[in-house]
Amino acid sequence: MAMSDAAQVKALDDRCPRCGGAFHCGVSDAGPCACTTVTLSAALQAQLRERWSGCLCVSCLATLAGGAELEPGAQATRST
Ligand SMILES: [Zn+2]
Repeated sequence: MAMSDAAQVKALDDRCPRCGGAFHCGVSDAGPCACTTVTLSAALQAQLRERWSGCLCVSCLATLAGGAELEPGAQATRST
C-alpha cells in the first residue's frame, strides 16, 4: 500500500491560498477536519469555491466566518 502514502503526505502539506501559510487540511483524515469547527454561510462557501479550488487554513476560515474580506489586502467596504 505504499502508493497511497504519497497522496497522504501531500495532503499533510497544504498551503493556504489566502494567507500563504502552511496548514494541514484534515479532509483525508480519519477524524473530522478542523474546518468543521468553522461555520460558513452557504453564500460564503460558494464565494470561496469560486475563488479558490482548495482549502483555506482554519485561521482564514474563522476570520472569514467573522465577516472579514475574502482577500486580506482588499479594501474594506463598511456598509454600516
Ligand atoms: Zn490562511
